[in-house]
Amino acid sequence: METIESSKIMQERCDAFRLSGQTISLVPTMGFFHDGHLELMRAGKRLADQMVVSIFVNPIQFGPSEDFEVYPRDMEGDLSKAQDVGADYIFCPSTEEMYSGGFQTIVSVQEVTKHLCGLSRPSHFEGVTTVVAKLFNTTKPHLAIFGQKDYQQLTVISRMVEDLNMGIKIVGVPTVREPDGLAMSSRNSYLSPEERESALCLKKSLDLAENLFRQEEYNAEKIIAEVEQLILSHASTEIEYVKICHSASLEDVETVEEKSLLALAVKVGQTRLIDNCLIGKTSGNVPDSNS
Ligand code: AMP
Repeated sequence: METIESSKIMQERCDAFRLSGQTISLVPTMGFFHDGHLELMRAGKRLADQMVVSIFVNPIQFGPSEDFEVYPRDMEGDLSKAQDVGADYIFCPSTEEMYSGGFQTIVSVQEVTKHLCGLSRPSHFEGVTTVVAKLFNTTKPHLAIFGQKDYQQLTVISRMVEDLNMGIKIVGVPTVREPDGLAMSSRNSYLSPEERESALCLKKSLDLAENLFRQEEYNAEKIIAEVEQLILSHASTEIEYVKICHSASLEDVETVEEKSLLALAVKVGQTRLIDNCLIGKTSGNVPDSNS
């Protein structure tokens, strides 16, 4: 495994692989690896000849009052975990490497960014699409792997790839969870033991909605009300949103159908957590640029 900090060198390596007919997968991350990240890497390894894992805590996707400065970092541990799952390259540029020299270009997806996290994090997705476009141009991947945990991000990236004819296959990997159901996230490290217990309300909410749907409750407003009640019955929780929406447009629906998206953002103490599920469908089915 080779660690590369320079965009130019990374580009040269990937150009050479393309010229020699080898396929490249990219797994973009902000590091502090857990098994969710590793599952993406296992897919990336399976699907291409060369796998690049990027580690970059991207300042332009954090709002001014968000956790960029304190975001957990562990480069040494990450390198060892990535090596164990067979990463070929770690691309870990500095902020200066990514955004120096009068940087002034933003990639912006217009519609699917208007909902869910886009409402409370206004410039977040522009930060994400801009950095991912840069990573794509640097590593020239044939396919890129993203987690369904960040469902809206996966949708936004798929849209960008299609709209800008990037010719990259976007692969979505189902959410990896702790044994008790909590979706793995680097931000779980912020939770106190009591908050960690309260955080289970997110997965319980998904299960509750799923059960209500199975009992033929199709009214989105009623399901959302029950979910909100469940969340607020847990200590230290504050709801940012509970939405049931169309799985492609992310627009609210009134009547729940199979594969409607239930998406949650909940603050537990000071920690903002998200989770989601496609109702009536427990796994699989993620947006895919080639589908
Ligand atoms: P992050 O480092 O949090 O930016 O995440 C990097 C990638 O890992 C993104 O595509 C995430 O959607 C994905 N990811 C994060 N947590 C999980 C999880 N629990 N299961 C599957 N993928 C995940």
